[in-house]
Amino acid sequence: MLKFPGGRTHALTFSYDDGIFQDMRLVELFNLYGMKGTFNLNSGIQTKSNTWRNRDVLVRRMEPSVLPDLYAGHEIAAHTLTHPHLYDLSDEALAQELRQDKENLELLFKQNVVGMAYPFGDCDSRICKAVRDQGLLYGRCVETTERFDLPTDPLRWEGTCHHNNPRLMELADQFLAEGEDLRLFYVWGHSYEFDVDRNWEVMEDFCEKLGGREEIWYATNGEMSYG
Ligand SMILES: [Zn+2]
Repeated sequence: MLKFPGGRTHALTFSYDDGIFQDMRLVELFNLYGMKGTFNLNSGIQTKSNTWRNRDVLVRRMEPSVLPDLYAGHEIAAHTLTHPHLYDLSDEALAQELRQDKENLELLFKQNVVGMAYPFGDCDSRICKAVRDQGLLYGRCVETTERFDLPTDPLRWEGTCHHNNPRLMELADQFLAEGEDLRLFYVWGHSYEFDVDRNWEVMEDFCEKLGGREEIWYATNGEMSYG
């Protein structure tokens, strides 16, 4: 039977968007439990003056200069240059949004960018083709499956669940239960949501439950898509 590296049967990955201040706390948590995440960034608007309000929380992006140290050991992926609605863009503008973001991120982080997350979840066959044409291996959607299958089409990669899914811990139990099949737990979200919803304990409990287990491969989205 095919196994993950190290003969492991389970894999866990995370995908978080927009390069915002709350990623600091999230990365600290991932590092504490030896977990790996993928962080999807918009290099054209990555500045702390780029802010918006979500309920009573002022959401701010971080300055690019702090990011390489912060995200060390994790994966950086594209999220387009300026976070537009991709359905509205011409083919040329779409290619430019993807290409320029990938190039900027590769320069800043000195690592290859091999994947992306679709801003607002905008994804169709034209957009997938544009992503593939830029040499990107995968694209993360906002739809989720509540399942642990490996993606059949990595350019339409649907995660297991958003971290706000009320079944998160139940799914974690299901994930850990004995089974023959290779299984991947994929969680996505935005870290500011933990401040907005005042529920950091959701992620703390999840990491505590799934951390330090020898059957689990803790890997980035990119490492999974090479595997
Ligand atoms: Zn986004």
